[in-house]
Amino acid sequence: MSEQEFKRALGYANSAFDLLKRSGIPPYPQFYELLYTYATGVNPTLNNRINALFRSGGSPSMDLAETLYNEFLKSDVNDRMSNVSERMHARIEAVHSAIDTAMTTANAYSGSLQSASGDLEREISIADLRALAGRLLTETRRMQETNRSLEEKLVASRDDIALLQRDLDDVRRESMLDPLTKIANRKSFDEGMETAIAEAAASNDPLCLMLVDIDHFKNFNDTYGHQTGDQVLRLVAMTLKSNIKGKDLAARYGGEEFVAILPSTDIEGAVIVAENIRKAIQAKELLKRSTNEKLGRITASFGVAAFRPDDTAATLIERADRCLYAAKRAGRNRVITEVDLVNLDTPAAAGASAA
Ligand code: GH3
Ligand code: MG
Ligand code: MG
Repeated sequence: MSEQEFKRALGYANSAFDLLKRSGIPPYPQFYELLYTYATGVNPTLNNRINALFRSGGSPSMDLAETLYNEFLKSDVNDRMSNVSERMHARIEAVHSAIDTAMTTANAYSGSLQSASGDLEREISIADLRALAGRLLTETRRMQETNRSLEEKLVASRDDIALLQRDLDDVRRESMLDPLTKIANRKSFDEGMETAIAEAAASNDPLCLMLVDIDHFKNFNDTYGHQTGDQVLRLVAMTLKSNIKGKDLAARYGGEEFVAILPSTDIEGAVIVAENIRKAIQAKELLKRSTNEKLGRITASFGVAAFRPDDTAATLIERADRCLYAAKRAGRNRVITEVDLVNLDTPAAAGASAA
C-alpha cells in the first residue's frame, strides 16, 4: 500500500468515526462500514439517502443505520438464505399447528355427532331433544369457527409463502452474481462452462473462451486507492457485458480478471468481440466520481482459445490463460489467440519478430 493510499484510507476512517460520534451510533463493525462507505462516496445512492437526512437537519439513527446497512452493504447470501429458511420453517410450523387444532375440533365434533345419534335411537323427551339440538348447535358453531380460523391461517400462509418464494428466487439469483460488479460470479461461470462444453461437443458448433486481465492494475490501485479500483472493475465488467450478446456469458473470474464464454463463435468472431472490448476499455477516460479528478485510462490484455473435442473446462481455460500470458509478455493491451500463439512459438516467426 502506498503512503498516499494509506493516508486516504485513514481520512475515510476518521470521517466515519466522526459521523458515528456525531449521530450517537455505536461503532459496531457494520455501522463503521456503512459510514466508511459513505465517506468514500463510492455508492452515490447511499450517499444521496444519508445526505437528504443531513439536509433535513436529522442524522441517521441506529435503526436507520441498520436498515441502510442491510439494504446497501449486507450481501451475505448465506445470511439471507438462512433467514428465508427460518421464515419458511416458522410458516410450516404455523400451518401444522392450525391443522392440528382443526383436527382436534373435528374429532370432538364427530364424537358429539356419534353420541347424539345414540341418544336419538332411544325414546327422548321434547326437553331432552331441545337440549340435544342446543348442544349440537354449539358444537357446530365451534366447528365453523375453527374452520374459519384455519382458512384464514391458510390464506395468510399462502401469501407469505409466495413472498418467501420470491425472496428465495432473489437469493438464488444473487448467489450467482459477483457482489462488486453484479455480473456472473465464478460459480455461474463454472456452471455455464459445463453447459457450453456439453453443447459444443454435442452440436459440433464452435465455442471460444476469452480471458481478460486488466493491465498494471496493482499500480492503479496503489495510485488511486482500492475504492477507485473497485469502480474501474465495475466499469470493465459493464463494458464486457455490453459487448456480448445472446448466449454469451461474461463473468468475473477473480480479482481483476474476467472471462467470457462465447458459444457458436469461432476464433475470428471471438477476436472481433475481444478487440471491441479492448478498444472500448482503452477509450474510457476515467474520472473519480467524488472529485471528478481525471485518472487517465486503463487497458486490458486478452487471451482467446477455441474448444477442441477432447477439451475439459480446465484444459480450455489453461490454453486461454497461456494466450493471456503471451499477450502480457508481448506488451499488454492486445488480444492473443491460440493461432497467434502457434505463430509466436515457431522459430521462424520468433526470428522474424526479433529481426
Ligand atoms: P498485469 O498487467 O501483469 O496484469 O499487472 P497487474 O498489476 O494487473 O497484476 P497483479 O496480478 O500484479 O495485480 C493484480 C491487482 O489487482 C492486485 C490488486 O491490487 C488488484 N485487485 C484484485 N482484486 C481487486 C478488487 O476486488 N478490487 C480492487 N480495487 N483491486 C483488486
Ligand atoms: Mg491478474
Ligand atoms: Mg492484471
